[in-house]
Amino acid sequence: MNQSRRILVTGAGGFIGHHLVKRLRAEGHWVRGADLKVPEYEKTEANQFELLDLRQFDNCLIATRDDIGLVYNLAADMGGIGFITAHHADIARNNILINAHMLEAARLQGVSRFLFSSSACIYPQSKQAAAEVTPLREEDAFPADPEPGYGWEKLYTEMLCRYFRQDYGLDTRIVRFHNVYGPLGTYEGGREKAPAAVCRKVALAEAMETIEVWGDGEQTRSFMYVDDCVEGLLRLMASDYHEALNLGTDRLITINGLFDLVGGLAGKKLVKQHDLSKPQGVRGRNSDNSQLRRVLGWEPSVSLEDGLAVTYAWIQRELENAGRLRKKETAPRLRDRVAASASALSQ
Ligand code: NAD
Repeated sequence: MNQSRRILVTGAGGFIGHHLVKRLRAEGHWVRGADLKVPEYEKTEANQFELLDLRQFDNCLIATRDDIGLVYNLAADMGGIGFITAHHADIARNNILINAHMLEAARLQGVSRFLFSSSACIYPQSKQAAAEVTPLREEDAFPADPEPGYGWEKLYTEMLCRYFRQDYGLDTRIVRFHNVYGPLGTYEGGREKAPAAVCRKVALAEAMETIEVWGDGEQTRSFMYVDDCVEGLLRLMASDYHEALNLGTDRLITINGLFDLVGGLAGKKLVKQHDLSKPQGVRGRNSDNSQLRRVLGWEPSVSLEDGLAVTYAWIQRELENAGRLRKKETAPRLRDRVAASASALSQ
């Protein structure tokens, strides 16, 4: 898997796809990116970037043409908890069209390996009812009771990957991401995820100001820095493992804890105001990484403190450049942490 390949990344205009393209290019691969949009915050490094609506089968044939060997299929209509709870039909329809058509096009074009990005949202809601949740193992997926809309579609596409492998010999990989964050990701507009939303709210707030938290803030999650996510993707693609695999960290933190951590990095004391009318998703979710360690001999290692420092600094800079935030001295704790993280992280 080390020799240079022709690789397609769908969703290359999005957060993880853009980071993945950069890494694949740095390793000397030829990369085609496909998406509805170009990356928002940086120019793509893909050799070729095509604006394609992958809900259309003909566009999937175009994306996979000319001897593409590997497909990382990351394109999806998705967003944070507010977005995925408000758009069940759009999300389920759009994503099933993308995924079914991409699988079929990859099969017809003779793609050698196809990776599907699934999600921790496929896990049964009944197993995530407590904040101190038992970490989720891959086999917990059934009996199925996933997140409405988004989770059902991801779980169904996992099955579709399995059927394409069994019936047509298409070599598939399935990764279940648990909350990925980092720089160059959406941080406002409704599609942003919790870490980006927290960083934006903290950056925009003055010290001692009240800051809105969705729910009572005691809901728990685990978060993975995007460099770890990309490393895991490459390792899974290169492995011979075709069952679904968790990719996340197993450090559980409450959303209140996430606000405290970011507030601490930014050197701001903030007063939380909990809005119980806002969606908060399942009560608790964590990744059991036993199978990940067994299969890849590796697991994510970037600490939440390091990853959030870099992410916060990037969002703060974006807001400053957009004239939304007055440029000021970076808090000493944040400056030190970003400097300390710089050697370990690529951003
Ligand atoms: P993202 O929204 O930043 O990227 C997805 C990209 O897909 C976007 O650029 C979007 O324009 C593109 N897209 C949507 N509809 C399309 C269409 N019809 N044709 C072509 N492109 C289309 O999201 P991301 O965080 O980079 O997520 C990448 C993948 O990982 C997705 O499949 C997502 O479901 C999955 N995932 C992400 C997370 C996370 O925490 N970020 C967690 C679980 C699963």
